[in-house]
Amino acid sequence: MQCRCGLEIQKPICILCLSEKYEAWIEENKLSLLNQYKKVVQKISESARLGRITCSLCRSQSERIICEHCFAAQIFNWLQSKEPELAQRFAMRFLLPPENYLIIKSKT
Ligand SMILES: [Zn+2]
Ligand SMILES: [Zn+2]
Repeated sequence: MQCRCGLEIQKPICILCLSEKYEAWIEENKLSLLNQYKKVVQKISESARLGRITCSLCRSQSERIICEHCFAAQIFNWLQSKEPELAQRFAMRFLLPPENYLIIKSKT
């Protein structure tokens, strides 16, 4: 099972489960963006590749395939256009490997 980006997905996760941790993070950091966030997730879902999966977390059936990286990248792009500073924090929290995160942290 492949994502649009070509990545082979070993453990498929449905979009609802994928969006959960980011939703919690948005809620915590910028509550006013929460409604928009939900619309963005809807759009991501519509543009994701078609295919039947069983979510490895909630076990529900889904018709869309997307890898965690593509999902997070699209959330990041959206944040970047709205709140560049928040997007930076998002990247540090979710996109960068932990070792890079430590480097950035020690510089500031
Ligand atoms: Zn992907
Ligand atoms: Zn799920």
